[in-house]
Amino acid sequence: MSWRQVAATVAILCGALFVTVGTAAAQKDLRPAPLTPVTVQTLPAHKQAARPLPTFDPQKATNAYLARVSGEARKNSDSYFEGGYVLILVDGLCAVAVAALLLWSGFSARMRSVAQRITRMRFWQVPIYVLMFVVATTVLTFPLNVYEDFFREHAYGLSNQNFAQWFQDFAIAFGVQLVVSVIALTIIYSVIRATPRRWWAWGTVVTVILFGCFAMAAPVFVSPLFNHYYPLAESPIKERILSLAKANGIPVDNVYEFDASKQSKRISANVSGLFGTTRISLNDNLMNRSSPREIVAVLGHEMGHYVLSHAFIGITWFGLVILVAFLFLNWGFRALVDVFGGNWDVRNIDDPAGLPVFYALIGIFFVLATPVTNTISRTLEAQADIFGLNAARQPDGFATATLKLGEYRKLDPTPLEEFVFYDHPSGRTRIFGAMRWKAWHLNDPDIKAGPVSPQ
Ligand SMILES: [Zn+2]
Repeated sequence: MSWRQVAATVAILCGALFVTVGTAAAQKDLRPAPLTPVTVQTLPAHKQAARPLPTFDPQKATNAYLARVSGEARKNSDSYFEGGYVLILVDGLCAVAVAALLLWSGFSARMRSVAQRITRMRFWQVPIYVLMFVVATTVLTFPLNVYEDFFREHAYGLSNQNFAQWFQDFAIAFGVQLVVSVIALTIIYSVIRATPRRWWAWGTVVTVILFGCFAMAAPVFVSPLFNHYYPLAESPIKERILSLAKANGIPVDNVYEFDASKQSKRISANVSGLFGTTRISLNDNLMNRSSPREIVAVLGHEMGHYVLSHAFIGITWFGLVILVAFLFLNWGFRALVDVFGGNWDVRNIDDPAGLPVFYALIGIFFVLATPVTNTISRTLEAQADIFGLNAARQPDGFATATLKLGEYRKLDPTPLEEFVFYDHPSGRTRIFGAMRWKAWHLNDPDIKAGPVSPQ
């Protein structure tokens, strides 16, 4: 897995919500909605009249919100996001091409020979080989990386970094990838040597444990390498976030902010970590450029990830996907090496020189599994959306925050597109969910007191 795939998986599983900032929101309608208690109807159920359907039409309200992003802005976001569909395939093909080059040129076998010359112990040959392999793949995929992460982001006006700043982040990510790959692959190859026939089963267990450790360590050791994290300044909005957290049984005493504006204009918040390292963080873009309604709506969603145990559910799903992936690798490796092993000087599955075969196969697997991994993530995200609406009671704040995604995530895809390519529900789905929630809460005093409908 490339560092970007690892980062993306971690981000998805930790429930990161990336939202792009549009224009600065007006601050005046941002005072918290009054906390008026809802009057409870006391008539016995059989005497209650059926509740009349509100006149508010959620479909029309959704269309009205979506119409706020139109013309160039809509075209840009559609084209940015649709380009991403192609890049999934390009990344997969690039992995295959890099692996083919390393294998057929004999470079992979030569890297193994170097490792064998340095040490006779098979255990230590693996980290030496992996070190060279990560450097080689990083160099070979660098042009594609620069295009995808730097030039393309700039072309769509999404990046705040110059090349030196971008390259510094890239170098840090490379360092993290190197350390994580060396440790993880050394352990996995030990498992392969210990149980060459059943390595895929034990390998899954080991990978899930390693992933859990990484998820725990990331907020403490990895995220601060890229951004500065600090407690959110004392303010009414912080109090509101903390009371929302406490009301939902989330044991946090602090909320963190981080300086994401140094990288991009996207607003984001996330719940990251596991066990003792769980924390709620929101970025400075969200803080500075969104209304309190939007902030509370987004944080309600993030708290949903925590309360609904999405970290554990996500890791469980991740384990199942990895199990299938390893079975595919086990079958694919043996099938390919039977035919080409002679050309590559690779014979056995425990030979580190066969790592490029795994690299290519995992690339192909994750391209093919895109609808599955996205559906797992999107389903959890949809649950967090519903939780956030119920907890924060800010359907309009959630709708306008969702619109801010509109700069980099196509707002209104076809259902098939959403099924295959969306790791979060689309803008239309999310806003419709918020408007449906609003339609059925219009008689509640706090919702009545909220912003006028967009119709
Ligand atoms: Zn989320």
